[in-house]
Amino acid sequence: MGLLDFDGDPLDWKDIEPHVEYVKHHGILQFLNNYDRLMKRPEDSLKWGDEVEYMIVRFDHDNRRVQLSLRGEKICEELQEKERKNMKNLVSLWRQEYATYMVEGTPGMPYLGYMAQFNVVEANMRMRRKEVQQYLKPDEQIMSLTVFPRLGCIDFTDPKHTIVGPESNPVSRSLFFPDQAICSHPRFPYLTQNIRKRRGEKVAINIPIFKDKRTPSPFVETFIDPEANAAAKPDHIYMDCMGFGMGNCCLQMTFQACNIEEAKLLYDQLAPVCPIMLALSAASPIYRGYLSDIDTRWQVIAGSVDDRTKEERGLEPLNKNKMRIQKSRYDSIDSYLSQNSEIFNDIKVEINDDAKKLLKDAGLDELLANHVAHLWTRDPLSLFSKKIELDDENETDHFENIQSTNWQSMRFKPPPPGSSIGWRVEFRVMEAQLTDFENAAFVVFIVLLTRVILTYKLDFLMPISHVDKNMTCAQENNAVKLQKFYFRKNVITSGTPSCCTQLCSTNTVCQNGEEASPIGSSQSKPAICEKMSIDTIINGKANVFPGFIPLIRRYLDSVEIEVNARCTITEYLNLISKRATGEYMTAAQWMRHFVMSHPDYHQDSKVNDSVAYDLLVRCDQIEKGVVKCHQLFGIPQHKSEYIN
Ligand code: ADP
Ligand code: MG
Ligand code: MG
Ligand code: MG
Ligand code: MG
Repeated sequence: MGLLDFDGDPLDWKDIEPHVEYVKHHGILQFLNNYDRLMKRPEDSLKWGDEVEYMIVRFDHDNRRVQLSLRGEKICEELQEKERKNMKNLVSLWRQEYATYMVEGTPGMPYLGYMAQFNVVEANMRMRRKEVQQYLKPDEQIMSLTVFPRLGCIDFTDPKHTIVGPESNPVSRSLFFPDQAICSHPRFPYLTQNIRKRRGEKVAINIPIFKDKRTPSPFVETFIDPEANAAAKPDHIYMDCMGFGMGNCCLQMTFQACNIEEAKLLYDQLAPVCPIMLALSAASPIYRGYLSDIDTRWQVIAGSVDDRTKEERGLEPLNKNKMRIQKSRYDSIDSYLSQNSEIFNDIKVEINDDAKKLLKDAGLDELLANHVAHLWTRDPLSLFSKKIELDDENETDHFENIQSTNWQSMRFKPPPPGSSIGWRVEFRVMEAQLTDFENAAFVVFIVLLTRVILTYKLDFLMPISHVDKNMTCAQENNAVKLQKFYFRKNVITSGTPSCCTQLCSTNTVCQNGEEASPIGSSQSKPAICEKMSIDTIINGKANVFPGFIPLIRRYLDSVEIEVNARCTITEYLNLISKRATGEYMTAAQWMRHFVMSHPDYHQDSKVNDSVAYDLLVRCDQIEKGVVKCHQLFGIPQHKSEYIN
């Protein structure tokens, strides 16, 4: 998204409701007007870019406390100054994010092609941090933390905002997260409020608590608000607003494909990769001051924006609403898009019939029509009074409105009207890593994987129900080491060149894996996937799977690449490889370990101020390279520098 602007007054849900059908109808017309033009686009070249979200953390060294500084929004405005003045060739671009303690940074321009760019990715991330640092006070730090361990605890913000009950926060009605921590651009408070109003109650997020020796059993909290007491489940950490999810940070990437068909292909092929990368990038084990039993933010953020009514969630018979909807508007994708992928679309995809008819009448293929019509089961949640009647030929606000509030694991992005930008695909699941080195490693790994998929014409598709099962496993405590994931055994196709089939030849014959999966009862094909460890998927295993990294290495051997870039890539691949074997810990596992071995931790699942302070001090030292952490990065030659 570009810089956020708005026109007119933001509307409350009850004032949006009469316009819902209008906005949705015109959103489709805007997409179709655009679509006609877009089908005639000349071929585009590969471009790509990353997005890293950061928090501004305040360290109170005297009192050994950490807080989130609510100056992020203000700092972001200063960072945007050059862009607002239309200055060119900027190193970075800055976007406000959901919370006032957050900023989001991207490279100033997307990267073109790939090989020459790889050394630039990490350097650019470093420059972004430096840029932000200029605006920080001495006690503030910019940190790419996925979740702040004491988010929602008393006085977790600076300045403090006391909450006496839901009435303290008219926007979210949260008992924990002050409205002052929501970015002041009306998009954010109005999304928050309208999600709650559409749903008919506050969002309710319950995450299993990690039961330690002295954790009360059952673990039950009592709150000052009856709604909270009713919504909170025993043995769970209860959270009650959008900020608990959208106030977390992630690492995303967008790729431009050469045309719509390649974009569909990348969208599909990367979907089964999402759970694998979610597990590998896991960095969020602590919620509201408690150790949880999950390692990633995914279900928290999905719950934090779940605007479905009781009827849509299947808790009440349908009356006002048209249909039950299986997932939150923030969740994994429900269908593949490319030709011949239908057989793998084996879960229910709710469809907006009116949208589908318009799309089909305009000549869209069935799968793309279903995709858009599925997004269109959601209502607009943010609308401005002067932006209702639009020029459907040249504006796409209504399309973008629905599209940009369907927060799925992958996003299919059509070219904006009147711009040189082509069809893009966004990979959205990864958690933010502590260091630029790690963030760059994950980004470069995914870029290389896309090149391997395209060059070798590999096929990772599997029943999408299996991808969903993998998304569930991926969030578990220590998923990388303890869980197995469905993955396709035979990934070569008739188009795969022989240099690659050699690497895969050990697995051209399907073997029966444990719980091998039929695609559906009507299909009599042999099982195409098998449960594998992340180690097998990433590093390969004889007679089972070639492995992403061996495939990437084979590819790198076949292209011309500078020695320097190759060295950098080798380090990145080493990190990913060792995280997959479990030799290096994920950030989530390392944080758990840190907390559980801290002298001020009392084996009661509580991450108190002192523990959180030391954890974040250590994270900051690791990021700055002041201390090296062998649990995260391994032991190099000079062992003495390294600590746990
Ligand atoms: P959003 O938040 O909607 O995903 P952002 O504008 O924050 O979008 O980020 C877009 C990302 O896409 C950035 O990493 C940017 O570098 C990258 N990008 C911009 N233009 C292109 C393009 N033409 N092709 C591919 N990536 C692009
Ligand atoms: Mg963005
Ligand atoms: Mg965004
Ligand atoms: Mg963002
Ligand atoms: Mg994004």
